[in-house]
Amino acid sequence: MRSTMMDTPLQVSRLLEHGSTVHATAEVVTWTGTDSGPSRITFAEVGRQAARLAHALRDDLGITGDQRVATLMWNNAEHLVAYLAVPSMGAVLHTLNIRLFPEQLVYIAHHAMDRVVIVDSALIPLLVGILPHLSTVEHVIVCGDADLSALRKEDVGVHRWNDLLAGRPDGYDWPVVDEDDAAALCYTSGTTGNPKGIAYSHRSVYLHSMEVCMAETFGLSPATRALCMVPMFHAMAWGLPYAALMSGSSLIMPDRFLQAAPLAAMIAGERPTLAGAVPTIFADLLAHLDAAPVDTSSLREVIVGGSACPPALMHAFSERHDIEVIHAWGMTETSPLGSVARPPAGVNRAEAWAYRYTQGRVPAGVQARIVDPAGEVMPVDGRAVGELEVRGPWITAGYLAEGESDPEKFRDGWLRTGDVGTLSADGYVTLTDRAKDVIKSGGEWISSVELENAIMAHPAVLEACVVGVPDDKWGERPLAAVVINEDAQVDGDALRGFLADKLARWQLPERWAFIEAVPKTSVGKFDKRRIRADYAAGDLP
Ligand code: ADP
Repeated sequence: MRSTMMDTPLQVSRLLEHGSTVHATAEVVTWTGTDSGPSRITFAEVGRQAARLAHALRDDLGITGDQRVATLMWNNAEHLVAYLAVPSMGAVLHTLNIRLFPEQLVYIAHHAMDRVVIVDSALIPLLVGILPHLSTVEHVIVCGDADLSALRKEDVGVHRWNDLLAGRPDGYDWPVVDEDDAAALCYTSGTTGNPKGIAYSHRSVYLHSMEVCMAETFGLSPATRALCMVPMFHAMAWGLPYAALMSGSSLIMPDRFLQAAPLAAMIAGERPTLAGAVPTIFADLLAHLDAAPVDTSSLREVIVGGSACPPALMHAFSERHDIEVIHAWGMTETSPLGSVARPPAGVNRAEAWAYRYTQGRVPAGVQARIVDPAGEVMPVDGRAVGELEVRGPWITAGYLAEGESDPEKFRDGWLRTGDVGTLSADGYVTLTDRAKDVIKSGGEWISSVELENAIMAHPAVLEACVVGVPDDKWGERPLAAVVINEDAQVDGDALRGFLADKLARWQLPERWAFIEAVPKTSVGKFDKRRIRADYAAGDLP
């Protein structure tokens, strides 16, 4: 029997229409770093600007159908307008990750066949370097009032955002789209090989936004003020921008001011109730808040994900700043929300920690299983360790122009995450490592993450990154690259002593490197490939 329900498509324009009318007074605040303070526009104005941008793209720049419009932008109001306008008009938004290598940017812009690039003034130098190689790009739109002369290129029209939008209608007849068509495009940061494209559909964006609003995950509502520190060029800023329009949550956008001092000023001045970022950003923020406290009383919860959050960081925020860190897991391939570590009902504060250390509980939209190296599904008992596989309506079934052909990434309709861990009967995922980062020492596995967390619990340690390095006797052994807090002193022997009662003796590293800073990837995670390469080249102290 067919249902009697209406068949109205789940599409991004619905989020735009709803947010800009029903939640017309919600605001998006963009940090400017100037004395004139942050700039503010309401969601009603976001709606008007989205209509104007869509008119400009269609009528002036000739964007039709599912052509790609790229952004090379920080988190700001104009980026939010592009996030909404481009998919709503039926075109496809491509968020270029500004921290990729120039040749990777050229590769993905070409692969996606980007026609237009919208760029922040501050990022013009980056675009200038690659524009000569962007053969599909016909137009550049510049936000801000930078000098445009460096952007001259034959056959490329260069426009200013404000000029282009001026005088255009405030409304747009948003088309009905097929909800399974692409709305937005994001490339993985390609730690190995070329970046791979993931095309989110209107349907997946809509359903993912609903999940982001739910209390079991980020719990967005009109009362939320979300400080969106996770970049809009990385995994769609965890879906916060679209979920904000759906829920009426206001957004605080840091633009390029992602350093601890301006972030602390945003927290004190704009009073966010929620924030999200990778652990390294929060580690910097913690050190800053410890040294120069500000009023953080609006912020009761922050979401930390993208790599494993050290328990020491969670405890420090909770105990010293009364801010609860909520751990979350996801991937570009999963839109990205995969699991969020909220403890079950009925556990007390002390018991809750065991749940909060995990990568989190999967929601109904994410099915999870643990699989052994032979592909056999393992018990859901919180103990059996294997590769995590997931499936669901906001998880990609393949890569752009490649399909599901890669058996390393897809199996029987499931995404192979490359993450290793356990799954409990009540749906909590605990990751011990990425498959490629597990240290295989004499037939035993050592979790690099477990070691890092244990080392980072030492008060003298700011950051610790552990990688496996070749060893004649054991095959591989852990190397710990450690950053010591300013004014602190500690050596490898002292750290081994500190770890002695926390880990088995054979798991303790005998190789230690004390470095100035852990190198980070394009999205702020520890760059383990670089550490391994530096070690191999003899470049570590
Ligand atoms: P990249 O592969 O460049 O890091 P993604 O952001 O898509 O790009 O990374 C997804 C991966 O990040 C996951 O497969 C997992 O290894 C890691 N990750 C994300 N969140 C967590 C977390 N909370 N704990 C541990 N690892 C995480």
